[in-house]
Amino acid sequence: MDKEKRDKYYILLERLTDYINDMNGFDHAGYKTVIEEICELFHISKGSTEFYRSLSDERLGNGDIMCDFDNGKGDIAVIEKRMVTPSKAVVKGFIYQSKDDIPMTEEEKEKVDIMLRSIIAFVARKRLQRLLETFAYNDDAGYPNVASYKRFLDWQNEQTGLVGFTTCCLNLRHFSVINREIGRELGDAVMRSYYRLLSEIVGEDGIVCRLGGDNFIMAFRNGYMDTLTDIFSGIPVAYDKDGENRVEVSASVGLFVIPEGFVLTGFDSVMEKIIPASQVARNSEGAAMVYFDERMMKRKNDSVRIQRLFPVAIAEKEFKVFYQPKVDINTGLLVGAEALCRWFHDGKIVSPAEFIPVLEQGPDICKLDFYMLDLVCADIRRWIDEGKNPVRVSVNMSRKHLVDVDLLRHIMEIIDRYEIPHHYVEIELTETTTDVEFKDLKRVVNGLQLEGVCTAVDDFGVGYSSLNLIREIPWNILKIDRCFLPEDDKSQYDTTTLMYKHVVSMAHDIGLECVTEGVETKEQVDILKHYQCDIAQGFYFDRPLPVEEFEDRMKKGKYDLVE
Ligand code: C2E
Ligand code: MG
Ligand code: MG
Repeated sequence: MDKEKRDKYYILLERLTDYINDMNGFDHAGYKTVIEEICELFHISKGSTEFYRSLSDERLGNGDIMCDFDNGKGDIAVIEKRMVTPSKAVVKGFIYQSKDDIPMTEEEKEKVDIMLRSIIAFVARKRLQRLLETFAYNDDAGYPNVASYKRFLDWQNEQTGLVGFTTCCLNLRHFSVINREIGRELGDAVMRSYYRLLSEIVGEDGIVCRLGGDNFIMAFRNGYMDTLTDIFSGIPVAYDKDGENRVEVSASVGLFVIPEGFVLTGFDSVMEKIIPASQVARNSEGAAMVYFDERMMKRKNDSVRIQRLFPVAIAEKEFKVFYQPKVDINTGLLVGAEALCRWFHDGKIVSPAEFIPVLEQGPDICKLDFYMLDLVCADIRRWIDEGKNPVRVSVNMSRKHLVDVDLLRHIMEIIDRYEIPHHYVEIELTETTTDVEFKDLKRVVNGLQLEGVCTAVDDFGVGYSSLNLIREIPWNILKIDRCFLPEDDKSQYDTTTLMYKHVVSMAHDIGLECVTEGVETKEQVDILKHYQCDIAQGFYFDRPLPVEEFEDRMKKGKYDLVE
């Protein structure tokens, strides 16, 4: 190697190092020119690198090949370099000459080798950075993740501010059903198509990210709202190449239109708006879009407050049992009662409608139900001991219990601790929505049956009433919800009346006792009589009563019936 060539080499090496270490960004065009000059100087016909994310990817040949120079003249590999990074990624470099080229001397090879080493170290660094970026801003399935969303909001906030933007959280409706029907793999493809559609609509003016499962968050300029509304309310998405097989995909969406004066104080400041709105949307039927309003914030704060107060409230015995009588409408006899929970807090009585749904979001409801059962059993024990003639009392058990494999044992333990005959206790359970729950429900009801504890389907007619539920599970009692009870007997042919009539007669035919809830008027008592539902529970006879008052009713044992 003569001096001139050596000097040229040192200049090129310095330029190469400058390009690959440039902190201000990578100048690809400049880098390529140096590579070309290097190849020319050493009579190289082709130079390429390969990158593999892991050793197994290398084995499978699953990598990226990058060619920085190729004059198309030949490919005798003269230098090969392989480097394994500490994280076990692999980078390889190859230098080729053609048979017409002047072969490199050993010294020249040494010099090229030095350059190739710098190049593969640089490729490793750059590719790993890109990978890291991919991992940081995308989830496993390749969807942009929350970090991308945050980056978009921050960037947009800095550029123009966020006024004029809407952000939302969406849940794909019934996606588990879609998965079940077409299979998971096609389900994934459907989700991806829906995602693509959304992100194509908002383009550079927005972002769509996956939160996890079938939940997504978006931010976009308000102008796209109309188009997006169509997509949210449902579109057919093809899941085969020909587009012949399609499923309807829709979303429930909680939105927040970013108002004038909004200060972005981090990710939470938008999430705390769109999450509650999306929960409301999710709980409403049909495709729904719900805009955030301040009342949602209040409800959320109330929930947090209740969850925080609960442990103290239960320790301080702030929860009491109220008993609502069940009456035989033919004889006026008091035949049973439902135990309903009341929370005495800060000198006020809090209704279960306020706290039960909150407690049902976590495991606290189970603690409360067992506590209630305990109070009821203690009362029944006392009534027996005092020679009062107790009636059967029903206790509500939330559906949340069903996953507890020890539920039956737990219930029996409480009843038996007070040594009360099992027939004094009845357990009310509501209808279930999923197959898994259905199996658990069947197991629990069967178990209670064997123990001689009565079971009732509560709120029949609200939600997912299924005839299967009645056919396959050996209940004793069907409690018809008040929404099924006609308000008056003016029309015998309206749907509510007809359904009420048939539900009662079906219950009787299959041997179930029938209780109608929410009986408020004399007219309704007459309807019960007419359709032969013998037992009523409702304000017409009594509201849920404190224990002392209920004991008075038990003592009397009978209601006067007005003819
Ligand atoms: P539920 O089990 O269906 O109880 C019947 C509800 O209907 C009670 O409301 C009762 O006060 C109300 N009600 C009874 N008669 C009438 C009437 O004539 N008209 C009207 N408008 N309403 C009537 P409450 O006590 O507010 O309880 C609401 C729900 O809270 C209960 O519905 C039950 O699902 C739940 N709940 C109450 N206590 C407990 C408990 O200890 N554990 C669990 N898991 N849930 C409970
Ligand atoms: Mg009930
Ligand atoms: Mg009910």
